[in-house]
Amino acid sequence: MVEKSANLAIISNNTFEATKAVNLHNYDISSALQTTLEFNELISIFSSKIANKIPHSAYVYINTEFGLEAKSGVFTRHSCNYALKVEQQQLGELKLMRNHRFSDAEFQLLETLLCCLIYPLKNATLFHQALKMAYTDPLTQTHNRASFNDSISREMSLAARNGKHLSVIFFDIDHFKTVNDTYGHDCGDITLAFSAKWIKESLRDSDIVFRYGGEEFVILLSNTDTHGAALLAERIRASIESHTIAYDMSTIKVTASLGVSTLRADDTIESFIKRADEAMYIAKNSGRNQVVLAK
Ligand code: GH3
Ligand code: MG
Ligand code: MG
Repeated sequence: MVEKSANLAIISNNTFEATKAVNLHNYDISSALQTTLEFNELISIFSSKIANKIPHSAYVYINTEFGLEAKSGVFTRHSCNYALKVEQQQLGELKLMRNHRFSDAEFQLLETLLCCLIYPLKNATLFHQALKMAYTDPLTQTHNRASFNDSISREMSLAARNGKHLSVIFFDIDHFKTVNDTYGHDCGDITLAFSAKWIKESLRDSDIVFRYGGEEFVILLSNTDTHGAALLAERIRASIESHTIAYDMSTIKVTASLGVSTLRADDTIESFIKRADEAMYIAKNSGRNQVVLAK
């Protein structure tokens, strides 16, 4: 089923039988698309498999749900643009380009061939949604502890291989138990969710925040030395201090203590984390609401 708008056709194939027929007819394309669940690879395979039927010089694929933009080739003047979806599930937008116009017959053929791409894209979407869920803390929408364990070893290897800095911040809300005890557990949950939001707002795109434990967060800062990490930690501390939470008839203010460490050549995961954790405890014992850099 194709709904056309000015220069954007929406490919949304709801009839499984029709898709099956197209897939059988274009078996080489369909079977090649069964080999991966990665969006970039699916689009690249699709582009190369249809190249002899519909010559094009470039493609751009954008999937906003997963913050993905895949492009390849030489960008030229004429383009056709498709928003892909199935059963109300958005599957991203695909644009093909070349330096002469696409004919109506080519549009029609392309729209048929896109049926081969739709279900592999849907499978990729389900796979990546499940992956995201398995690695996300539902309350704070930050990465969870399982994700941290994977990320830290990956980031440490990358930093060592590329000779880049890597820093970590341990963040712990001060007297959080008092928030629970005074205003109730629901208010505690809201405080956690807002704290995570304010941390995220202070970060750059490349920084990753994890919920490490109850009211503890860890922030991994790739390509960041101690000085940069200290500035960021201070920005987070100041942001938490400056906000107020309104709950029922009360206003609540929280603060946090933060510890910072930067990767050394002889560090293990444990020693790297331990220094940040210890720095955070020094911040607690020195009056809270402050940033301490590991020695
Ligand atoms: P400190 O300043 O020394 O860090 O004191 P604190 O009260 O923040 O630390 P403590 O470790 O004594 O208490 C942490 C509390 O966080 C206890 C626990 O019940 C609460 N907590 C852990 N996870 C959650 C959660 O998901 N929701 C809520 N509402 N509370 C939680
Ligand atoms: Mg605490
Ligand atoms: Mg704690």
